Amino acid sequence: MTKNKVLKSFIPVSKESHFPVQNIPFGIFKTEANEKPRACSAIGDFVLDLSVLEMNGVFSKFLPDKKNIFSEMYLNRFMSLGKDARNNVRREIQSLLSEDNPFLRDNESLRNECLIPSVNAIMCMPADIGDYTDFYSSKEHATNVGIMFRGKENALMPNWLHLPVAYHGRASSVVLSGHEIVRPKGQTKDDDAELPSFGPTKLLDFELETGFFIGQGNNLGEPVSIDSAEDHIFGMVLVNDWSARDIQKWEYVPLGPFLAKNFATSISPWIVTPEALEPFKSEKVKQVPEPLPYLQSRNHMSYDIKLEVSLRTEKMKEFTVISKSNFRYLYWDMCQQLAHHTVTGCNLRTGDLLASGTISGPDRDSYGSLLELTWRGSNPLKLPGGEERKFLLDGDELKITGWCEGDGYRIGFGEVTGKILPSIK
Ligand code: MN
Repeated sequence: MTKNKVLKSFIPVSKESHFPVQNIPFGIFKTEANEKPRACSAIGDFVLDLSVLEMNGVFSKFLPDKKNIFSEMYLNRFMSLGKDARNNVRREIQSLLSEDNPFLRDNESLRNECLIPSVNAIMCMPADIGDYTDFYSSKEHATNVGIMFRGKENALMPNWLHLPVAYHGRASSVVLSGHEIVRPKGQTKDDDAELPSFGPTKLLDFELETGFFIGQGNNLGEPVSIDSAEDHIFGMVLVNDWSARDIQKWEYVPLGPFLAKNFATSISPWIVTPEALEPFKSEKVKQVPEPLPYLQSRNHMSYDIKLEVSLRTEKMKEFTVISKSNFRYLYWDMCQQLAHHTVTGCNLRTGDLLASGTISGPDRDSYGSLLELTWRGSNPLKLPGGEERKFLLDGDELKITGWCEGDGYRIGFGEVTGKILPSIK
């Protein structure tokens, strides 16, 4: 941690930047001048082209027989190499960018080639996602939703405190930040209606989540123990699990979410590594009752990550913050999620995405969905300019951001945004 703090780059980085030399996230980008997607990292207001560095032999001692691994359009092959490869490459990038290393600092032509102003970078999907799973790991969120749908007495289902509940989601509709979201149509049934009807969802919602990518996978039939779970986690992103609440309410019994969730899930473009988050480990949440042994760990992966949701309607000029939550509120941590997911022998593969579930905190202003923030629409949000919102309307734009607050620096995730477009006629 102390070593991290003294690191300083020759590139000026503001205190509020999400991307100081202590972060070094991984992503995929292209530019108008070079439309080939390739691997990158971020430093301050620049994107660092890893394919250029690779061609200059920078990583050859760590990746001897992995030629052009950073020229590929997804990070999967790099992710599959595991923790040590990621660590070595990340440390090498930190060293290259540090103020006392002349290699890049004093080589103007190489600098011009590999450092691209972020405004000129078009971020792309970082990984080829084979499978996507969404957990339901916030006790506050599960309790709030339970109260609304089943009443206070039966808020948490009997299994909830014993296992990290999840559903298998849809990888094909995971989209990158900025992708516009078309309001889905579906079947719904009003409480007082005799029969269901069909049309655009009226209760379109967001879900404030984070997710993690699988680096090295596991073989079918070979569960990952909780104590080795961390070795399989490549890094984290922000996730918005768009949800159609009216469709969800009519369809979810008995098998859980289906069309209410499968139209879009948005992720942020930068993958932040466990090493960057390490100085921000927070206390492990006390779990009562104690989970079964396969879910008990020596280690844990809870971090103090501040999360913020903002909304901008078509009439508003600026985004306004509507929720402030924190990753550390989660009851089940990523190691427990991963161990549980694979305990049957289910194989996770490089590039699989596992999301946290909506992250709500204890107070109303920390709730991670409009369902909870407006208490199912009964208590609308009042927005600057006088508008109100129960759920998202066409033209609304949503933004989720997240960061860890260090001593004079931030380890950030950037943001994930999405604008709602009207249903297809
Ligand atoms: Mn969700």
